[in-house]
Amino acid sequence: MTTLEFPVAGEWASGAQTREVRSPYDDGLLAVVPSFTALDVDRAVAVGKSALVSHPLAAHERAAILDRAAVLLAERADEISRDLAAEAAKPLTQARMEVQRAVSTLQFCAAEARTFTGDMVPMDAAAAGVGHLGLVLRMPVGVVGAITPFNFPLNLVAHKLGPAVAAGCPVVNKPASQTPLSALHLAKVLFDAGLPMDYLSVVPGPGSVIGDALVHNDDVALISFTGSPEVGWDIRRAAPHKRVGLELGNNSPLIICADGDWRAAAKAVRLAGFSHAGQSCISTQRILVDERIKGEFVAELVTQVESLVVGDPLDEATEVSALISRSETERVATWVDAAVAGGATLATGGDRTTQDHLRPTVLVDASPEDDVCATEVFGPVVVVRGFSDLRSAVEEANDSRYGLQAAIFTQDIDTALWAARTLDFGGVLINQVPTWRADHMPYGGLRDSGNTREGPGWSIREMTEERLVVVKTGPGPA
Ligand code: NAP
Repeated sequence: MTTLEFPVAGEWASGAQTREVRSPYDDGLLAVVPSFTALDVDRAVAVGKSALVSHPLAAHERAAILDRAAVLLAERADEISRDLAAEAAKPLTQARMEVQRAVSTLQFCAAEARTFTGDMVPMDAAAAGVGHLGLVLRMPVGVVGAITPFNFPLNLVAHKLGPAVAAGCPVVNKPASQTPLSALHLAKVLFDAGLPMDYLSVVPGPGSVIGDALVHNDDVALISFTGSPEVGWDIRRAAPHKRVGLELGNNSPLIICADGDWRAAAKAVRLAGFSHAGQSCISTQRILVDERIKGEFVAELVTQVESLVVGDPLDEATEVSALISRSETERVATWVDAAVAGGATLATGGDRTTQDHLRPTVLVDASPEDDVCATEVFGPVVVVRGFSDLRSAVEEANDSRYGLQAAIFTQDIDTALWAARTLDFGGVLINQVPTWRADHMPYGGLRDSGNTREGPGWSIREMTEERLVVVKTGPGPA
């Protein structure tokens, strides 16, 4: 198989070393890709830095590139969905949805590129400022280092590349080693839409080499990282003088009150807890349900979950496929076994398919200290626990090292608004699962879930520097 070329430092390159990309589902060979070096990262950053000086892009050019890219991405959706599904073991139907979401992410970035603006400062609010005009311009921050995870290998790359283009920043992307193909597709789309090649490099290779080189390169102004808290906070510590935006994990709680539409909640959890085998940062994980409806809710949830089709990601009918690696399958299975050994009940699942992949699993009454509750599962597992007092349920939801999104189902407006104020998370969803996200909303978390908000309008601000301009105005005509 020929080695795929990637855009690095303004040209297509295949690198001196290569590695294979294999299917997480059946280990079939999907592609041979370059494994670049720290030197390649430094070249990519240098070329990006000089592109910003030699040919800065005007706002109308950035917007037009993003608009065209959205159209091209939609036109190529079939091919891209198949590669995405194969490299990430994401069921094809969910891969198609991801491509559509990436199209909308680029559209929102184009809109932001046209409209985002700076500020005026009322200088004469200070006596000394009379006779002065104050403007705050938003300048591109410089070269952006974008480090991205495997679980949304297209849309989460779009959430960094799109705002970088909109803000006028060159960008160097380090895609997850398991999923470089989707990032390559997106780069081709952007180039075909008119982005100059020196504005974007996609550099596959080990995180400890490529990611590390980006983090330590002084000419990278901002690291925008999405991935695990362990890697993310290490990056924050290693780069105290850089801007570092972190989008990390969660163990998303969903509270269901007795007056809430628990049938709708159970139906929604069918995908919210199991889409991409639970490998979403906001996968529904801890379900806290009023004791009075717990039995009926669990019965309905089990019916829903047992109807999920588990299998080959490229099969149209499949809804849940393999985890990203065998070692992840073993980790999640060990956590489920430990919870059961500790007293949790298996309502469904807990076993493997004939291909040795985990079946969707519902655990009831695992302890809050069990890994399946206390830590991000990132697998096809949800836990149901009962509550008799809503305040204690909210306290239990808040008692987490993570704080990305939480949700509550209730028909009582006072309860809903009280919960919105009391749930200590970056986002609180009412009568919707915590797994819900639209691509233009501010998205990000507290504590170990990160330190920023992503979404085109917010990311563009992070990718620009404020520049104050003061003009001393003259007295005018005599
Ligand atoms: P990960 O292991 O932290 O990897 C994320 C990226 O970091 C990959 O590109 C990885 O490269 C790279 N990397 C690894 N070691 C590095 C190092 N020492 N320096 C710099 N970069 C390094 O996370 P993952 O397993 O791909 O993704 C799962 C995690 O992402 C979960 O915790 C999930 O919740 C979180 N996530 C958060 C959001 C959000 O928006 N909040 C969205 C999606 C996922 P390699 O692939 O080469 O190791």
